[in-house]
Parts: sequence; C-alpha cells; structure tokens
Amino acid sequence: MKRVYIVPHSHWDREWYMPFEQHHMRLIELIDNLIKLFKTDPEYKYFHLDGQTIILDDYLQVRPENREIIQNLINQGKLQIGPFYILQDAFLTSSESNARDMLIGHRDSKSWGKHMVHVGYFPDTFGNMGQAPQMLKQVGLDTAMFGRGVKPTGFSNSTSPEDKFSTEFSEMKWVGPDNSSVLGILFANWYDNGKEIPTDPIKAKAFWDKKLTDAEKSASTDDLLFLNGSDHEPVQMDLSKAIRTANELYPDIEFIHGNYDMYIEQLKKDLPKKIDEIDGELTSQETNGWTTLANTASNRIYLKQWNTKVSKQLENIAEPLATIASQKTDFEYPHDQLRYAWKWLMQNHPHDSICACSVDDVADEMITRFKKSNQVGKFVADAALNKIKGQLNTNKIPHNLGEIPFTVFNTGTSNKTGTVIAEIPIKKIKFNPNKDSSEKIYQALKNENTPKYTVYDDQNKTIPAEVLDSKVKFNFDLPKDKFRRAYIEKVIHVKILMENMKPVSWKTFKLVPLNIDSKVLQKNSMIHDGILENEFLAIKFSKNGTLSVTDKQTGHLFKDQLCYEDTGDLGNEYVYRAPKNSRPIFSSDFPNKIVIKENNSFVGKVEIKVKMRIPVSMNKKLKEEQEEHLDYRLRTAQRSGRFTDFTIQTEVTLEKGSRRIGIRTSFDNNSMDHRVRALFSTGLQTKEHYADSIFEVVKRPMLLCQ
Ligand SMILES: [Zn+2]
Repeated sequence: MKRVYIVPHSHWDREWYMPFEQHHMRLIELIDNLIKLFKTDPEYKYFHLDGQTIILDDYLQVRPENREIIQNLINQGKLQIGPFYILQDAFLTSSESNARDMLIGHRDSKSWGKHMVHVGYFPDTFGNMGQAPQMLKQVGLDTAMFGRGVKPTGFSNSTSPEDKFSTEFSEMKWVGPDNSSVLGILFANWYDNGKEIPTDPIKAKAFWDKKLTDAEKSASTDDLLFLNGSDHEPVQMDLSKAIRTANELYPDIEFIHGNYDMYIEQLKKDLPKKIDEIDGELTSQETNGWTTLANTASNRIYLKQWNTKVSKQLENIAEPLATIASQKTDFEYPHDQLRYAWKWLMQNHPHDSICACSVDDVADEMITRFKKSNQVGKFVADAALNKIKGQLNTNKIPHNLGEIPFTVFNTGTSNKTGTVIAEIPIKKIKFNPNKDSSEKIYQALKNENTPKYTVYDDQNKTIPAEVLDSKVKFNFDLPKDKFRRAYIEKVIHVKILMENMKPVSWKTFKLVPLNIDSKVLQKNSMIHDGILENEFLAIKFSKNGTLSVTDKQTGHLFKDQLCYEDTGDLGNEYVYRAPKNSRPIFSSDFPNKIVIKENNSFVGKVEIKVKMRIPVSMNKKLKEEQEEHLDYRLRTAQRSGRFTDFTIQTEVTLEKGSRRIGIRTSFDNNSMDHRVRALFSTGLQTKEHYADSIFEVVKRPMLLCQ
C-alpha cells in the first residue's frame, strides 16, 4: 500500500524580499495560528519548524509569555524542532561556522527537550558541502534532506557516469571524502510539493493525480513525501479536512499527517537494496530548474569581506587567546559570551543573507550584526590579553632604561612567516579631565622628540623592522572596581618581520632607542631595477600594468597576471549575465602609473594606478526590462554610450620569506550594472581545478565562464 506522508512546515527565510522585521511579524502570526490550531483540531498533529531553532527565539522575543505553551507543544512532539541553529549557506561561510551551526543548534534543541528532528536539513541551500555526511554523523544524524545540487533522472532514464551529480531516485547514499555516508533525500519536486491541498473533492482529485505522478517519477519506494507549505507560507488551517478528503478519494493509498522521523523510519524499511551513491559536494547547476546560484558569491562583496573579518576575529583571535588565557591564568573561558557573538554572526549566514540577494534594508541590518559580533569578540580578546599580560615575564628579555618590551602572538594553528604591525605606547601621561588640560598634555607629547628605534629579539639579535609613524591619542584603562582611568599616550607603529613562528606561540621583543645602541640595520631593498623579489618569487611590472611572476624554484614564468576586466551586467541579484555581443573592457588598454610605496629589507610594495573609461550603466532598456520583471535570459538591453572614469589602485606586496603575493585593490565605483574581475592567466588547459572549501580541498570541473 502506498503511503503519503504530509509534513506541514513553512520554509522560514528570516529576511529576503522584505526586511527582517516584516517577515518576523508574519512569523508571530504563523505561530499564533499554529497554537490555536493545535488547541482546536486534535487531528492536526505536527508542524516542522524548518530545521532551525532560532525560530523559537524569534517568536519568544515578541511573545515571551507563551514560552510554556511552546515548551508543551515541543514536549508532545507537535512542534518539530532542530537540529540546526539557522539554515546556513554552505559555501560562503567559514568551515568553523558550519560546525558551530550544528553544535549550537544541537545545544539549543537539547535545551528544549529530547524532541529534535533527526534530519540534517538543507531545503533551500544553494548547493551542499561535501563534508556534510561526516559532520552530520558526528552530531548523531544519519539522514540529510536537500533541495538543490543533484539531478534525479527518474526511472525511465539511466544515470550517466559522465554526470557526477545525477541519481536515479530522489533517495541516495551520500558519501563524504572520508567515506562517511548518510541517507540523502532530495526534494525532487521542491519543498512545497504539498502546499495548499484542496479540501473540495473535485479539486483535490486533480491536485493529487498530478502530484502523485510527479512524486512517483523519482521515488524509490511507495513512501511518498509531500511538504505542506512553502517560503513563509502561513499554516493551512483546514489541512485535516484536506487529508480526510484525500483518504476518501484514494482508498488504496494511506494519507498520513506525518513528520520527517516517521517518514524516514518507514522509508529505511522499504528502500531498495541498491540506490545510487553520490560523492562529495552537490553543486549541479540544474535541479529540475533550480540552480545553485553560484554567482551570488560575488554579490555585495563588502558583506563577504565583513563576514571574513568577523569569522577570523572569533576563530583566529578571540577564541585562541581565550583558550591560552584560560590554560595559563585564572581566566574563565567565556563560553556564553562567545556563543552570543557566534549567534550574531550566524544570523548573517542564511542563503538569502550572506548571498546578498535580499533587499537593501537586509544588507544594512547585516552590517549591524557583524559589528555586534565583532565587538563581543574584541571584548573577549582584550580581556584574555590583559590576563595573559599579567603572566608574561618580560624580564626574561633583559632591557635597560628607555627600552620597551612587547610581545607578538601567533594565535593560528600553523607556522607563520610574515609582517606584523604592532602599536606600542612609548609614553603615557595620566589625565584627569577635572584637573588637567588635555591640550597641554597632547601638545607636550606631540612636540617631544620621538626617538629612533631598532627592534631586538629575545636572543638580543636585531630583526628586520621599520617604525612607520607616531601618534598622540586619548586612551583609558577600565579597572574592574573603579571608574575608567584616562591617559594620553604617544604610540608608535612598528612593522616587523616574524619568521617561522610556531603555532599558538608568543615571542617577546624589545624596542631599543638608537642613541643607546646605534647599530643600524643594514638596509637591503627588495625592489631593484624595477623588480620586486624575494627568495621565492620575482615580480616584474609590465608597461600595461600587468605582472610577470617568476617562480624561482621551478623557473616557471607566469605572464600577464592581474588584468582587470569590466563587462556589463543585465542579470539579477542571483545571476550575472553579460549583454549580447558586447566586448569586455581591459585595464591593460589604459595608461597607468606605477609607484614604489615601500622598499626595505623585508617588504616591497608597489602601487599600480590605472584610469579606465567605462559606461555609466546599462541603457534605459534595462530599467524597463527590470520593471517588467522580464526573465534575465530574455533581456536585450545594452551598455550605455555615456562613459565615466573608473580608477583602480592596486598595491602589490611581497614580504621576505613569503611564497605569497599580497594584492590589495581599491576603487571608487561610479558606474551601475557592471562586473569587474581580476584576471590571472594560468596558461593551463585543464578540465578540473582544486578549490578550498568547507574542511576540504575539493576537485571541481571547469565551467565555461560567461
Ligand atoms: Zn530559502
């Protein structure tokens, strides 16, 4: 007998085509209605809360008085919660963020009781990461459900070995790079295939005849799954009646108001002996018409930059310092504060948020969340450093009067070679605003001669260093038992080269004024005869602004590196699309200015400035086509004939001992509807490439670039 499992849910994008609060208020209505329905309709059994525990926080923020009602519904298994904190995009967030989402979601689910749904839930994720099977297994989940990234071919077509993303059934064995595997279930007809089920028998017959046929095409068993709800869809209040109607219409089929755990339990019993195996990340560009929307990776780049900055600050600075401090001092590891910071950060991680395909208000709110997370991370890092500071014995490095010790930490988990800029106070004057004149102190410090310094390591050897500048500024201490203590200080910024610094380690140095020890570091410059060079790489700057890089170990020459390409874009917030028959504009066709910005024994920095001329926007036709909501594939707009200046400044940096070229690009964008890319020519013909992904280096097929 066929069984049809109808699982009510609402896929809750917390923000998207409306700002957060406008969706949020609808969530309150949805859950209020659900509470009413559970009270009045004994046949209404379950509702799935979209795999994210944050929905509970969102509701209780507005209706805290309903906590007990919610708890009771969870206890009875009616509200189906967990396992994640939020529905996170897999690829635009850090590896660690993907792990934290599971850990925090797991913890939150547990705090509500045992009734957690045992499914790794990725209904709308824009492609799925290869390590999901291993990570799910580690939090005790053996099934994953997802809507994108795989193409079911159905009974009639056999799967092609050429296409690693196709499977015969919507059920498959999904295997990760470490050979962990989970049962994978694709929402082959999307996660709304059972929305708005008619109660009227005639309409219901037409509805089910079509829906059952669609589901049977890719299902491997007689257990069919229908999801009652779509994006932000309110609860179907007459679902029980609709299920009664269906059961009357099809006596040979059992229609069940179910939940995922029930469905999976039955499915596992009925699965055929052999189902297709699918390996690693699921990134098919087509899944019955739904793409994985890879172009969102370059949408609103500033949000991606913020995300990297805050993730790194939590993962690579605040948490390692807190760990060191809690191991070496009486510092209590701030679990709660850090989880709070992570939650702010992760609220920016859903597909519609970090992919930046939402309305402008969402992008604005995301910045505030990034800042909040960053502020907490900074607080934790400062508190940990203050504790560690008390334990550091700088006497180990002998210093005389006027010499200033300072310590550099490598909080990373690998050996580091590279430059560090340290801000070091060289003089502090206490400042009481009721008594002292800040202006006098400021001027006195400013006018005082700043000594020249050289830097020594703990073996009393000079190390490559450069004092960049000095500055007088207001600052304060925050004692734990007193009001803040203000002072005005003179600081200097010193750039030093750290060589082969061990993971999770620290090293103390001293600044020595040159009048005490006048040994001056021999200055060998890294740039000579127009070539920026270290032990590993030599960079030549071509007249057209591109770089020729020689790998000195292999002798291989990489020509024509770093050319900027500008093209029009008539796509939308998800997909890039160049106008037909238009030609790209290249930076190498415009005059440039190349200037040496830094040149000492351990850093060479060169600035390339190029002024391009590009169209101000697409022509008026695009606006019309956008207002008509015309599919981007059908748009015919072209670039405007009006041009404007577009200046790109690029800093190319090479440090002693480094195998990496640092490239920092900045520009002031005055144009609309365009895409700028930096091109690096590999000169290679290959069908595959390797990329850094979530806890793996993944081999990907080359796609034709548009
Ligand atoms: Zn979504």
